[in-house]
Amino acid sequence: VIEARPGIRGLDGEDVVLRMDDVGAASKRWEVHGRTRVSVAGRRLPFPGNLLFLKYLPPIKQWGPYRELDAAQWERILDALARAGARLSVPVTAGWVERDGRVTPFPARFPAQARVLRRGLEARLVEILNHGWTHCVLEGGRFRPRLFHGNREFHREFVDGLPPEVHRDHLRRAQEILQDCFGVAIAGLVPPGNAFTRDTLAAAVALGIRYVSAKRVARWGEVPGLVLVDNARVWHFHDRDVVRGGVGWLARMLEGFRGRRFLTLREAAARSAAPAGTPPTRDRAGS
Ligand SMILES: [Zn+2]
Repeated sequence: VIEARPGIRGLDGEDVVLRMDDVGAASKRWEVHGRTRVSVAGRRLPFPGNLLFLKYLPPIKQWGPYRELDAAQWERILDALARAGARLSVPVTAGWVERDGRVTPFPARFPAQARVLRRGLEARLVEILNHGWTHCVLEGGRFRPRLFHGNREFHREFVDGLPPEVHRDHLRRAQEILQDCFGVAIAGLVPPGNAFTRDTLAAAVALGIRYVSAKRVARWGEVPGLVLVDNARVWHFHDRDVVRGGVGWLARMLEGFRGRRFLTLREAAARSAAPAGTPPTRDRAGS
């Protein structure tokens, strides 16, 4: 386990690990919930932010819907990374969930974005990780927006209470799609919404995953064969931040890290697994 350093979010000496979650995830389309509290004269009051259309209106709207980053934006992201000498770890959700519950593989749903990401991988500017197959619970259509409630709890994929074979099946499908799309072994997992169980971790090891990054990632204890990288060691944000703030937002953030060394999650994991005194290995495959 890479330990969190209290008070230093994402920074460990000179090194920075950047991670942008939710690329390809249909939760950006279907996860809709509103504010349930508002501040009035310094008091926090209940507010029916999940009622009907209210949850779609800023500033009541809390998450989706928002657009997928397009290929032109990805080109500019790669440019910004190259200019800053930075690397970005990109957990991709391998399947896009349609309203009727069908799941379209990432390269079929977003072929132009997949092409740019492949180039970023070859240029060692990005690392691709597994961010689940669906990012949500498919059973019973519970991922769909509701009239009178938010649906945030169903936009986690590896939730407790699902049979172990669902964890295995979703992870395996995601591995197959991503490895086929990007032509590299996918060795990292970022569980959607920080939800995972022992079943998820066991399935991950069996599928060749070697490191996992999440909030409170060590909550189930150590797992042989897995390096656990706590979110506290990673500068993590969402594609939503770039959709809202523009690629300029990302470029300004990179500027703020000027002079620091950027590591992929794989490199950070390799470093933590190595005996003390071993120099950091560079990530040749960029994945
Ligand atoms: Zn996510």
